Amino acid sequence: MNLDSIYDLKIEDISLGYVYNLKKQNFTCIFCGETFDEGIVYEDNHNFITAKRAIEQHIEREHNGVLKTLLSLEKDITGLTEIQSKVITGLMEKKESKKLAEEMGISPSTVRTHKFYLQKLKRQSKIFLTIMNLLELQEEEVESKELLKNEKLNEELLKSSCETNSLHPFFTQYNLK
Ligand SMILES: [Zn+2]
Repeated sequence: MNLDSIYDLKIEDISLGYVYNLKKQNFTCIFCGETFDEGIVYEDNHNFITAKRAIEQHIEREHNGVLKTLLSLEKDITGLTEIQSKVITGLMEKKESKKLAEEMGISPSTVRTHKFYLQKLKRQSKIFLTIMNLLELQEEEVESKELLKNEKLNEELLKSSCETNSLHPFFTQYNLK
């Protein structure tokens, strides 16, 4: 699974598990790269289905759904501890805190604490992501301003050299007289 490009995607696209390419008019699975062409009718259990339906089924059947696939990724990618992953899996399976606690060998109050912490992490992640996005925008703004400044400076230099009818400083190093 090559996930390098997953970071360039929007949360909405990652949630779907696939991206739509307007130019190629096809759907691509973000986990394995399999594509489904919109111009083709796919067959499924003696039924004819659209490419969109086909990729949705592909995500469910081949990858067990987006949530499970994301949860199965390495800790380094998800940032979740093993316990946190288990609690989220429990929530996904709609297990009660008591039952989940039994299965995990911890107390129900600990499960509740983990659930509370996960909600807190979600709120913090939103703020963190916004901060980093703003920082990126700010850096881009500075870069484009510098570029504009350099362009203006070059223009002025050229203008002044033309006005005084002397050679541009750049040429003097060749001892042109
Ligand atoms: Zn796939």
